[in-house]
Amino acid sequence: MTLTIVKNATCTFCGCVCDDIELHADEIRIVETKRACSLGESWFKNHTAEHLYPDALIDGHPATVDDAVEAAADYLLNANMPLVYGMSNITCEAQREAVALAELIGGVVDSHTSL
Ligand code: SF4
Repeated sequence: MTLTIVKNATCTFCGCVCDDIELHADEIRIVETKRACSLGESWFKNHTAEHLYPDALIDGHPATVDDAVEAAADYLLNANMPLVYGMSNITCEAQREAVALAELIGGVVDSHTSL
Protein backbone atom coordinates (compact mmCIF):
# COMPACT_ATOMS: atom_id res chain seq x y z
CA MET A 1 0.00 0.00 0.00
CA THR A 2 1.34 3.41 -0.98
CA LEU A 3 1.10 6.21 1.55
CA THR A 4 0.82 9.86 0.66
CA ILE A 5 2.79 12.11 3.01
CA VAL A 6 1.69 15.71 3.49
CA LYS A 7 4.08 17.94 5.40
CA ASN A 8 3.07 21.16 7.18
CA ALA A 9 -0.64 20.35 7.16
CA THR A 10 -2.87 22.67 9.15
CA CYS A 11 -5.22 21.43 11.85
CA THR A 12 -8.31 23.62 12.29
CA PHE A 13 -9.92 21.66 15.09
CA CYS A 14 -9.45 23.80 18.19
CA GLY A 15 -8.45 27.22 16.95
CA CYS A 16 -4.72 27.00 17.69
CA VAL A 17 -4.34 26.19 13.99
CA CYS A 18 -1.14 24.17 14.29
CA ASP A 19 0.44 24.20 10.85
CA ASP A 20 3.33 21.80 11.24
CA ILE A 21 1.43 18.52 11.20
CA GLU A 22 2.75 15.69 9.04
CA LEU A 23 0.01 13.42 7.71
CA HIS A 24 0.36 9.94 6.24
CA ALA A 25 -2.65 8.75 4.26
CA ASP A 26 -3.69 5.79 2.15
CA GLU A 27 -6.42 6.17 -0.47
CA ILE A 28 -9.18 6.22 2.16
CA ARG A 29 -7.93 7.60 5.45
CA ILE A 30 -5.19 9.34 7.36
CA VAL A 31 -3.24 6.69 9.22
CA GLU A 32 -0.57 8.76 11.01
CA THR A 33 -0.48 12.32 12.35
CA LYS A 34 2.97 13.44 13.45
CA ARG A 35 3.08 16.40 15.87
CA ALA A 36 -0.73 16.61 16.26
CA CYS A 37 -2.07 16.57 19.82
CA SER A 38 -4.59 13.88 20.79
CA LEU A 39 -7.52 16.09 19.73
CA GLY A 40 -5.96 16.83 16.36
CA GLU A 41 -5.02 13.18 15.83
CA SER A 42 -8.60 12.11 16.50
CA TRP A 43 -9.95 14.82 14.22
CA PHE A 44 -7.70 13.89 11.32
CA LYS A 45 -8.14 10.15 11.68
CA ASN A 46 -11.94 10.34 11.82
CA HIS A 47 -12.31 12.28 8.58
CA THR A 48 -12.10 9.77 5.75
CA ALA A 49 -12.79 9.68 2.03
CA GLU A 50 -15.39 6.97 2.64
CA HIS A 51 -18.92 7.95 1.68
CA LEU A 52 -20.60 6.99 4.96
CA TYR A 53 -23.60 9.32 4.89
CA PRO A 54 -25.98 10.86 2.34
CA ASP A 55 -24.82 14.15 0.82
CA ALA A 56 -27.65 15.94 2.61
CA LEU A 57 -30.76 15.33 4.70
CA ILE A 58 -34.15 17.06 4.69
CA ASP A 59 -36.21 16.26 7.77
CA GLY A 60 -34.02 13.22 8.33
CA HIS A 61 -34.42 11.85 4.80
CA PRO A 62 -31.62 11.64 2.22
CA ALA A 63 -31.70 14.48 -0.31
CA THR A 64 -29.60 16.11 -2.96
CA VAL A 65 -27.46 19.07 -1.98
CA ASP A 66 -29.47 21.34 -4.29
CA ASP A 67 -32.76 20.31 -2.65
CA ALA A 68 -31.22 20.74 0.80
CA VAL A 69 -30.02 24.24 -0.05
CA GLU A 70 -33.54 25.12 -1.24
CA ALA A 71 -35.03 23.74 1.97
CA ALA A 72 -32.50 25.60 4.11
CA ALA A 73 -33.26 28.84 2.26
CA ASP A 74 -36.98 28.34 2.91
CA TYR A 75 -36.35 27.68 6.61
CA LEU A 76 -34.16 30.76 6.94
CA LEU A 77 -36.52 33.07 5.04
CA ASN A 78 -39.48 31.95 7.14
CA ALA A 79 -37.68 32.05 10.49
CA ASN A 80 -38.67 34.70 13.04
CA MET A 81 -35.23 34.79 14.65
CA PRO A 82 -32.75 33.17 12.25
CA LEU A 83 -29.62 31.86 13.92
CA VAL A 84 -26.46 31.09 11.96
CA TYR A 85 -24.72 28.69 14.29
CA GLY A 86 -21.58 26.63 14.41
CA MET A 87 -18.60 27.69 12.35
CA SER A 88 -16.05 25.56 14.15
CA ASN A 89 -13.77 23.64 11.85
CA ILE A 90 -14.44 25.93 8.90
CA THR A 91 -12.23 28.39 7.10
CA CYS A 92 -12.15 32.16 7.57
CA GLU A 93 -13.70 32.48 4.11
CA ALA A 94 -16.62 30.24 5.14
CA GLN A 95 -17.04 32.23 8.39
CA ARG A 96 -17.16 35.41 6.32
CA GLU A 97 -19.94 33.90 4.18
CA ALA A 98 -21.84 32.82 7.30
CA VAL A 99 -21.72 36.35 8.73
CA ALA A 100 -22.84 37.78 5.37
CA LEU A 101 -25.75 35.33 5.34
CA ALA A 102 -26.76 36.36 8.86
CA GLU A 103 -26.71 40.02 7.84
CA LEU A 104 -28.74 39.28 4.70
CA ILE A 105 -31.54 37.52 6.59
CA GLY A 106 -31.48 39.74 9.68
CA GLY A 107 -30.20 36.94 11.84
CA VAL A 108 -27.64 36.51 14.56
CA VAL A 109 -24.39 34.56 14.67
CA ASP A 110 -23.22 32.24 17.40
CA SER A 111 -20.53 29.63 17.67
CA HIS A 112 -20.34 26.32 19.50
CA THR A 113 -18.24 28.00 22.18
CA SER A 114 -21.40 29.48 23.71
CA LEU A 115 -22.18 26.00 25.02
S1 SF4 B 1 -3.14 19.81 16.71
FE1 SF4 B 1 -4.25 20.00 18.64
S2 SF4 B 1 -3.60 22.00 19.48
FE2 SF4 B 1 -3.10 21.98 17.27
S3 SF4 B 1 -4.91 22.89 16.22
FE3 SF4 B 1 -5.17 20.65 16.22
S4 SF4 B 1 -6.41 20.25 18.06
FE4 SF4 B 1 -5.54 22.29 18.29
